[in-house]
Amino acid sequence: MEQIYTPPCPLYKKCGGCQLQTLPYPEQLRRKQGREIALLGKFGHVETILGMDDPTHYRNKVCAAFGLDQKKHIVSGVYQPGSHRIVPVDDCLIEDETADRIIVDIRRMLRDFKIQVFDERSGRGFLRHVLVRRGFQSGELMVVLVAASPIFPTQKPFVKKLLETHPEITTVVLNINDRFGPVVLGEREKVLYGPGTIEDTLCSHRFRISPSSFYQINPVQTEVLYGKAVEFAALTGTETVLDAYCGIGTIGITASDKARQVIGVELNRDAVRDAIANARLNGLKNCWFTAGDAGEYMLGCVREGIRPDVVFMDPPRAGSDEKFLRALLKTAPSRVVYVSCDPETLARDLAVLTQGGYKVQRIQPVDMFPFTEHVETVVSLARSG
Ligand code: SAH
Repeated sequence: MEQIYTPPCPLYKKCGGCQLQTLPYPEQLRRKQGREIALLGKFGHVETILGMDDPTHYRNKVCAAFGLDQKKHIVSGVYQPGSHRIVPVDDCLIEDETADRIIVDIRRMLRDFKIQVFDERSGRGFLRHVLVRRGFQSGELMVVLVAASPIFPTQKPFVKKLLETHPEITTVVLNINDRFGPVVLGEREKVLYGPGTIEDTLCSHRFRISPSSFYQINPVQTEVLYGKAVEFAALTGTETVLDAYCGIGTIGITASDKARQVIGVELNRDAVRDAIANARLNGLKNCWFTAGDAGEYMLGCVREGIRPDVVFMDPPRAGSDEKFLRALLKTAPSRVVYVSCDPETLARDLAVLTQGGYKVQRIQPVDMFPFTEHVETVVSLARSG
């Protein structure tokens, strides 16, 4: 019987973010392990999930929506699932505590600076979201103000006051999003203070991170995850490695010391720019990054007879696609290391790869998202025969 206890967060029911809060942490891990076995057990032995010593306040990226409540008071927090009503959040069990404090202080400052929040119904107002990202090792702190317009009349005094209140902030960016819809960041941005990016250290390498680039949100567990991914790749120093869906190049760069060369492919151009800068930042001469669809890139490899020895693939939650998987089978690398944030799409893609002649060797779940239902998995596959 699972032990039920009072969830530690008063917003548990409204917010919906921490679905497993009613379970003590060891129970959460057992439940995730069970889910992994149910979905992936048919491919091989599922190793014991790697959990956290302290599963709280692990999120290094916090994004708060800003709006008005029914009494026209400014609120900030998360959208209630399936609605556009904001559940006010001042502190959160899983979010970085400094980031939460900055968001609360920004909310308090809005009135003094006469900054209006955006109203989705009328399309009027200015501030829509605030995104805070903190470098875990470096402590560098990025604040992104997402606004509906580039015109920010009290910009200078506002930023000055923000930096006085939180001298730990190293950069402030204004992102302009004038579109409707669920996407938080728009395409235009203006750096208001600092370099516009932050740097962090992960797996002994330095990484530059732009506002829109993907960067794993739990740095402690990311080191565990990448450690396993690189271990599973069993590199000897002679291999050509493809890092597909590479983001800012974290996995490929972490593996680059043990490979002859690394090629990374990624759809988001800002992330690719970061990846190229990151190779330079680490003095690496054996890493190349290119912007594009991973499947298209793989097809190009097939056409040109390029054969990576090892492929890391780390697609978004929707998993990979037919195009990528078919081309991967054609290029036939000796090993594939699949990093997945959704065991269902992972199981679907593993079925294609195992039918195509690969054998699953290791399946390692990692708890990147305590208190939530999400679970990350690293799987290694080798070409059989
Ligand atoms: N490996 C990186 C990023 C993983 S997240 C890390 O660990 O940090 C998945 C990445 O896939 C995102 O950066 C996203 O922009 C990218 N992506 C999504 N669809 C893609 C596609 N069709 N081709 C290439 N990259 C894609």
